[in-house]
Amino acid sequence: MDRQAARERFLVPQWSGGYFDIDGDGYARVIADPESGYSARVVDVVDGLRRRGYRSPFLLRFPQILKHRVRRLHEAFGAAIEEFDYPGSYQGVYPVKVNQQRAVIEALVEESGRHRYGLEVGSKGELVLALMQDLSPDALVVCNGFKDRDYIELALRGGQAGTRVLLICETIHEVSEILDVARAVGVQPRIGFRARLHSGGSGKWSESGGHHAKFGLSTLEIVRCVELMEDSGCADALECVHFHVGSQISDILAIKEAVKEAARLYCHVRKRVPSLRYLDLGGGLGVDYDGSSTMSSWSQNYTLEEYCRDCVWNVASVCEQEDVPPPTLISESGRAVTAFASLVVVSPLKVIGRTADVSVDVPGDACHQVEELRASLDEMTAGNWRELVNDARALSDEVILGFKMGFVSLEDRAAGEALFADVCRRALTFIEPEGGDPEEIQDLMLTVAPMIVCNFSVFQSTPDTWAVRQVFPIMPLSSLTEEDLHPYTLGDITCDSDGRIDDFLSSEGGCKKTIQFPVLDLENNPYLIGIFLVGAYQDTLGDFHNLFGSANEVSVFIEQDDTFQLRNHSRGTTVSEAVSMFGFPREELIHRFDDRHGGDDSPESIRYRDCFLRVLSSGTYLRR
Ligand SMILES: *Cc1c(COP(=O)(O)O)cnc(C)c1O
Repeated sequence: MDRQAARERFLVPQWSGGYFDIDGDGYARVIADPESGYSARVVDVVDGLRRRGYRSPFLLRFPQILKHRVRRLHEAFGAAIEEFDYPGSYQGVYPVKVNQQRAVIEALVEESGRHRYGLEVGSKGELVLALMQDLSPDALVVCNGFKDRDYIELALRGGQAGTRVLLICETIHEVSEILDVARAVGVQPRIGFRARLHSGGSGKWSESGGHHAKFGLSTLEIVRCVELMEDSGCADALECVHFHVGSQISDILAIKEAVKEAARLYCHVRKRVPSLRYLDLGGGLGVDYDGSSTMSSWSQNYTLEEYCRDCVWNVASVCEQEDVPPPTLISESGRAVTAFASLVVVSPLKVIGRTADVSVDVPGDACHQVEELRASLDEMTAGNWRELVNDARALSDEVILGFKMGFVSLEDRAAGEALFADVCRRALTFIEPEGGDPEEIQDLMLTVAPMIVCNFSVFQSTPDTWAVRQVFPIMPLSSLTEEDLHPYTLGDITCDSDGRIDDFLSSEGGCKKTIQFPVLDLENNPYLIGIFLVGAYQDTLGDFHNLFGSANEVSVFIEQDDTFQLRNHSRGTTVSEAVSMFGFPREELIHRFDDRHGGDDSPESIRYRDCFLRVLSSGTYLRR
């Protein structure tokens, strides 16, 4: 199969954002900076890590992609501003919660000077991080979230010391508290209102916006806040109107509606408060994870450029109608900036489930259901496969029922299950790849699909596949041009039955229950598997379920074709780190060990101690 066909088969052009590709030899490549175009095979990067003694799972970060995303975002807003002769400007802020890793924050902050790029924070911890970064003096630090007096004071003192800090208020109480603390500290605050818009979002997080949103001021509250500030003689501290309709907005209409409403609100407040100068559009800019360009939850029916044009044009036209000077636009796009820049690489450990090449032993005295299942295998044709599959379903139910009631043997049941899978597998050979009822075919595939168990934890590396059934592009890192594909599912090594991935992208939008991979032969072709676009939220939502913890991490810089540098590598969690995090420090465990076994110096006891210490110091994942 040629390279182009392979790309289409795995939908790479649709989801890769231009950062990933397949080469002529069937290897996945990463193009960390599309402007220079230099690329490297992902497996070579992994080899580099293995040479340094690291084992799977790996989390690869690509700071060059982060920088490129920031540039693209600012260029797209810049182009829209030029196209519509927008008199205002744009400056972005990066929402720290989307990925707080130092390597990520520092790469983004390096772009601050060129684009006045700032940070958005939602807690005291994030504020502390933000205040200590080398931001451009013109960059903003936007403070969201509920705030106590310490949060407010720190933000105000940061502002006093020269950082442009905007305090976005979620409640009236916050406004009066900010005015209070500001008076005590002796600084002029910069205040914004978070508006609760009527226009909700769309997609998975639509509840973040709209009437029932957790955050934001209602119209009445905004009027009250303005009055409060006027009465205190500090209305000129009000600089910003902010809104956030939720993350991964898949429908551009929802964005347009929210922007129009917020722009109108901005204009009304601006007529009363001339110091108003920023309109913060929040986050929500989507990522086309499933590559379908649709309104499905994990896609988006618009491009980054379209998003920028719609924001700029709608604000411009509302301001023109209202005869109000257009604001500086801020956006807080996090997902769209970070998603592409991390890649999880896992290695398959075993394949669970029988594949076609193991033949079924049918006992000589098998029950008639088993005989019929075997016969239907031979009788199946393009004309009758559907009927025979339906019959086989009934027969296999009967075998199970018979087993439960005691008149079907263990051997018969085993043969019955295996033959049913063979019937489904056979049926799939009669189905045109594009034809038939997708649901029905998906069911057949799920019945025959073995599970590839991989050395990773879903709860650590891709928590949203479990939490919100997010779909990520997944593909092998080699063998991508092989002709033959077979359906598989993926499992992790946690003992949790939810520790699996069973939503995969489908070219029709939405998702499929199985994924088509080249045959995985652990002896001869043990390809690695990449889970792509995990840079937003996954990197830091991950948890210690089953005490697995972090993967081995590294930042990859591509310098020339096939030449790269690995920096900031860090070893994943060790067993002693994982247990000590939950109140069992390593030293104490060793003391306990010695209390129990210290008196025994037999060779077995010594070896037990060696083994115990070795495991404590080793990584939590399987050694492979
Ligand atoms: C989470 C969040 C963002 C980031 O949203 P994305 O959809 O990831 O761009 C922006 N602003 C606020 C207030 C948020 O809570």
